Amino acid sequence: MRFLIENFGCQMNDHDMEKMGSVLIDHGHSFAAGIDDADIVIVNTCCIREKAEQKFYSLMGRLQHVRRKTGLILGVTGCIAEQEKENIFERLPFIDFSLGPSNIHKVAEAVDNAKGNLRTGGFGDNACSPSLFIRPHNTRQGVKGFVTIMKGCNNFCSYCVVPYVRGREESRPGADVLAEVREMAGRGIVEVTLLGQNVNSYNNGGGDLSFPELLKEIDAIPGIERVRFVTSHPKDISRELIQCFGTLGTLCESIHLPFQSGSDRILKRMNRGYTAAGYLEKVDALKEQCPGISLTADCIVGFPGETDEDFEQTMLLMERVQFDGIFSFIYSARKFTAAAKLTGPVPPPVAHERLARFQGRQREITLGSNKNMEGKKVEVLVEGPSKNSPDELSGRTRAGKIVNFKGDPDMVYKLVEVDIIKGYANSLRGRCESAPGGKQCSRR
Ligand code: SF4
Repeated sequence: MRFLIENFGCQMNDHDMEKMGSVLIDHGHSFAAGIDDADIVIVNTCCIREKAEQKFYSLMGRLQHVRRKTGLILGVTGCIAEQEKENIFERLPFIDFSLGPSNIHKVAEAVDNAKGNLRTGGFGDNACSPSLFIRPHNTRQGVKGFVTIMKGCNNFCSYCVVPYVRGREESRPGADVLAEVREMAGRGIVEVTLLGQNVNSYNNGGGDLSFPELLKEIDAIPGIERVRFVTSHPKDISRELIQCFGTLGTLCESIHLPFQSGSDRILKRMNRGYTAAGYLEKVDALKEQCPGISLTADCIVGFPGETDEDFEQTMLLMERVQFDGIFSFIYSARKFTAAAKLTGPVPPPVAHERLARFQGRQREITLGSNKNMEGKKVEVLVEGPSKNSPDELSGRTRAGKIVNFKGDPDMVYKLVEVDIIKGYANSLRGRCESAPGGKQCSRR
């Protein structure tokens, strides 16, 4: 049967989608070209923000009509499946299965059950869940790959649903992670992103390797040129991890370090476990260890009880750090979470005004940072034709910035050296002087 997976949410979800695709292929199914061609449609969900949840339910309304016409098998996976558990079958009585993130390894079994008109529900946080250990096939084009190193979270930030839907922290043994990365390097992957809700807590409960040790081991794997990781919690960034930046040749000079608020009062209400000064100390240590490191972050605006003064503290923190980019959102209450019970909601017009001011200033900072790149030479991993101009190539710097430039198609999937000639709001324009085919860079 042919399957289609619609995906919402983060890189963890993208990777879960790859894992489910691999399980289905192993059971004789194949990718559908589109919805008209699909016998199975799986919607992999996210419930981190209200908007993603609303989008999911509106998509399910449309899929219900398709199912009525074609009789396709329809399944839900991911965070909303776990959040709603059995209730989802009342809310969406037309679906055939629903599997939480720790149960996605059962996807082929759920499809088989649906063929026999049996409905499957798979919920609960299983320790040593096989879902964590699935090694997806190489279904993605290109030379970039993702590896799950841990799942779940023990932090219970007051606004966040992750510990409830993805369970407690669990790390994969280092030896298993390294075997997967070696296997990826063997099939030509040069850039690896290590995934986990809080990668800095990797093996914190004891294990064969600490997170910095894991990075050092990966650094020594021939063929791997770039390593990234998401997501980091500021309170868990250790001195050893900071020392890895600028010393491990493969570790990209960029880090995503969510700060969420610049106000200590709000950080406490968020249960983040650090102060603004503590966050800035870590940032200063990173900048000292690795001058020019690119910082990105997440920030929530309009958290319950946020005053004008609190918001000004957030603006100050943003100004002080000069991030390359920030994902910023207006707070939305999530089921199960402690913050959903907090008093002092910020009126929506106030929250929108704050967000607009925040995002406006960050856009200026990002543009300034991109303009600062003009005249510099950078290493670009070429990903393919540019989206805006198919006769140009597009790739990313080690800092994760998009660079568009004229080049030979032979350069695709190679590391090339590019001169930056213009910085724009969301990308850079470059010039590549190398001969056709590209001058491949190697840091080794
Ligand atoms: S660290 Fe906080 S925000 Fe991040 S996943 Fe855990 S609970 Fe959620």
